[in-house]
Amino acid sequence: MRLTARCSAFVRAVRRWTGSVGGRLRQAGLPPVGPAARPRLAALLLLAALLIVVASVIRARPDATALPPLAAGELELRALDVGQGDALLLRLDDAAMLVDAGPDARTAGAAIVPQLRRLGVDRLDYLVLTHADGDHIGGAPTVMREFAVGTVVHADDDLSHPVMRDVLTLARDVGVEVRQVRRGDALAWHPQVDLSVLNPPEPAPNDDNDRSVVLHLAYRASAMLLTGDIEATAEAELVASRVLQPADVLKVPHHGSNSSSTAEFLDAVDPQIAVVSAGRDNAFDHPRDGALRRLRAHGAEVFRTDLAGSVMIRTDGRILQVFLERA
Ligand SMILES: [Zn+2]
Repeated sequence: MRLTARCSAFVRAVRRWTGSVGGRLRQAGLPPVGPAARPRLAALLLLAALLIVVASVIRARPDATALPPLAAGELELRALDVGQGDALLLRLDDAAMLVDAGPDARTAGAAIVPQLRRLGVDRLDYLVLTHADGDHIGGAPTVMREFAVGTVVHADDDLSHPVMRDVLTLARDVGVEVRQVRRGDALAWHPQVDLSVLNPPEPAPNDDNDRSVVLHLAYRASAMLLTGDIEATAEAELVASRVLQPADVLKVPHHGSNSSSTAEFLDAVDPQIAVVSAGRDNAFDHPRDGALRRLRAHGAEVFRTDLAGSVMIRTDGRILQVFLERA
């Protein structure tokens, strides 16, 4: 149903990008059988059969343990393993942006800077700081010193957090544009990507988690929703305001906290793939069982940085592939 209703992307295969390949295949659901549906059903079955062949070939490739370079026109979301925190790298052609920068300078120096350098990223069009919590912005000054940044994006009126003040001061000192965003704003990142700000609304909520910048990224037939640390109140407001659109990929809010990922929110987003960014054996017990149960009950396949290391999702706008740093 997703395919016809949403032109949704397929999940083609899940692979580790080190070690042997453990592929899995998921397909979108099929439309109901009926006279009117038959030609479309036949076409879908043909397409599904083709995809199975493609996935099988990938699994059998002798060099499949190596991660292929990003192809032209391929969008990548990389949830970097920064322990308890968030750092999401997005790349498409020559465009790159980072959404949050991990918890501290040490982690940024060990887990973000070297990985971006290895990937050949030397400029970030946007550095988005979803909200003023240390686990999201602690590494931002390090990132800003190491890479050219086009625009720092934030939503926070309250600049009492010392790192947020440092970042904005640093941006001013080196002449980087700073932009405060609200619902309805759009970021011009790549000409083929619609990148819209869904949260916070105006006026912004008092709770700093609920003030997180939420981004909806649409690329061809695929979509991703990046949620910072929003919790149930912001989720309910997003649902009530009818700004949410379905997304194939959900960056799970607030590290999989039980106070986020409500059933109503997941009904509206309807993700196929859910990525949790959390530290191994973290003090908050993230992600919580209740959130994981709700995600799976909504049909999402969950990938966790605390278990898998960095999680990478690539799409040509139609087919999704997931690569895991470790099994
Ligand atoms: Zn957080």
